[in-house]
This record gives sequence, C-alpha cells and structure tokens, in this order.
Amino acid sequence: MDLDLVADCGSCSGLCCVAPAFARSADFALDKPAETPCPNLRVSVPGRSDAPCSIHATLSERGFPGCVAFDCFGAGQRVSADWRDGPAAAREAFDAFAVLRPLHEVLWYLTEPCDDAPAELRDEVARAASRVAALADGPLGEVDVAAVRAEVGELLGRVSEAVRSSGRGSSAPGHARADLVGRDLRGGRASGSSLTGTTLRGALLMGADLRGVDLGRADLLGADLRGADLRGASLDRTLFLTAPQVASARGDAATTVPGRVPRPSSWGPA
Ligand code: SF4
Repeated sequence: MDLDLVADCGSCSGLCCVAPAFARSADFALDKPAETPCPNLRVSVPGRSDAPCSIHATLSERGFPGCVAFDCFGAGQRVSADWRDGPAAAREAFDAFAVLRPLHEVLWYLTEPCDDAPAELRDEVARAASRVAALADGPLGEVDVAAVRAEVGELLGRVSEAVRSSGRGSSAPGHARADLVGRDLRGGRASGSSLTGTTLRGALLMGADLRGVDLGRADLLGADLRGADLRGASLDRTLFLTAPQVASARGDAATTVPGRVPRPSSWGPA
C-alpha cells in the first residue's frame, strides 16, 4: 500500500479549520459553526509549505489547544474538491473529508508495526488495512464509518492484548498488565514509575506527571495527553501513539517516541 498518513497542510485548503463545528471551551476560544472557515484561517495556497493557520505557532497560548490535538492523518490533502470553488465543490469536499479523515485515522493504527504480535494476527491486520485502503479509494458515500471503526477496534484490541502479554514488559509473562481503559487520571502522578504493558485506551491524562515513566508496550489508543509532562519518559515502544497526542504534551530531549511519530521541535533534539 502506498499510504500518505501524515498531514500536509500546505497541500490542503484548510479543511480541518472549516468543516468541523467548534464550541467555545477550554479547547477552542470561540464558537464556530460547521462548514464555516475559522477566522484564524488564512487562505492557503496549494504547494505552499507554511501552515494555513495564522496563529499556528501559538495555538495553545491563544486558547486553541484542541487544534494542537487534532490531526487529519493525511486525509485533507487527499480531498480533490476545494470548498472555495462554490457550493457544489464545498459539499463534495466536506462529504469526502467526513469519511476520509476517520478512514485515515484507522489506517494509521492498522499500520502500527506490532512486531511482537503473532504472525497470524499481523496478517489479519494487514488484510484489514488493505480493505480500509480500498474503501478510501472507492465510492465514499457507501462507506459505513461506524462499522469500520467497530471492526478495527475489536481487531486492535486483540493486537494490544497479544503485544502487552508477550512477555517482555510484563511483570507476569502471559498476562497483560493493568487495565486503565478510560480512567480519569487528570493531574495524576506516576513520575519515575513503570507503566509498561498497561492499557491506557481513552484514558484522560491531561496534565499528568509522567516524567521518566517507562511506557513500553503501553496501549495509548485515544488517550488524552494534553499538557501531560513526558519529560524523560520512554514512549518509543508504545502502541497506537499519534502525532497530535505527542504535540499536545510536554517533552524534552530525553523523551523517546516511536520512529514514525514526529518529535515536536520544542522538545529539542533527541
Ligand atoms: S485556530 Fe488555526 S488551526 Fe485552529 S481551526 Fe482556526 S485556523 Fe485552524
């Protein structure tokens, strides 16, 4: 598969700043209706590499941390219609983005290396990735996004359990480590400890002190890391980590992340 799952804002018309609705909150400093350009969006020029957001460098400080924690996973630049070309083109662009964005997110998870999962499970993941990639290439109006998410979620759950139980990184070989799915751990402290093999799916870790924590083989799918302190933490062997999760957290030169997840420049060189 030839997949581009990394956002290229310079090749997009700013769809993620136009299509969704925002409600004024701790994540967004203003209300914005769906399918309406954010007032901070400057007209992007295809092929230009700078970000279409006029406050890109200071999003969190200006009250838009929700934008830091969002990623289109390369769906935006894949939409061929341009919302600026009139109502028909806008409708086509918004409808395509509504399907491609979740499919690309699912593809990001399905292309996790997962070297420690059994071969038959890795084959199953590869087949699922091919199916989802084919859906993204086909008639998007026929895609049942909820069904795709449910099917892939079940598969990724089995991958997670297999990897976390695979011995290394588990205090009890053959048994997955702690289950903290969906737990509210906001502002919690775990500095200097080990969370290897723990599933933190959907956990709320905003502002948590995770300095120096070993997160090897921890499942971070959907975990909210906004403002979490990851200085010195080891995330290079985590499962299902994404660029926006990393970008919304605090790290430093000693923080490690998987090779396919870009390090924020504010963390300094690794
Ligand atoms: S604040 Fe910037 S990144 Fe967020 S929606 Fe507006 S233009 Fe986009």
